[in-house]
Amino acid sequence: MTDNGCVFCAIVNGRADASVVHEDDSVIAFMDLQPVTPGHVLVIPKAHAVGLEDLQEGVGVAVWKVAHQLGRALRRSGLRCEGVNLFLADGEAAFQEVFHVHLHVFPRFAGDPFRMEADWRVQERAQLDRAAAAVRGGLAALDAG
Ligand SMILES: [Zn+2]
Repeated sequence: MTDNGCVFCAIVNGRADASVVHEDDSVIAFMDLQPVTPGHVLVIPKAHAVGLEDLQEGVGVAVWKVAHQLGRALRRSGLRCEGVNLFLADGEAAFQEVFHVHLHVFPRFAGDPFRMEADWRVQERAQLDRAAAAVRGGLAALDAG
């Protein structure tokens, strides 16, 4: 197997170092090189997929299953963990930096450095309904495709 210049494929293939916490037939999980907080893990499919668009559904389920267990494991790890975030960035605009799909799992605690800024104001129902119609259209397009 070649790595195609993908650092995560290099980890899967044993050609790059990683601090691995879990490995099975389809998924591997290892420590993020630039942790948000100590215990920050990345869960990835072994088969290269850039993002959600080319991630096989069953593999996505396997990734989630491992992330779910790791989120629970963090609370039992002895690392500071008062909460857990699961975070997936799909696409450059979403701050994806490595283009091999990965699910972040990291401990949270009061005063930690992680920040998410957004306009959190409650929106009008009509605006929410228009967005819901658009999303339902997207689901219909998937069913048709
Ligand atoms: Zn890859």
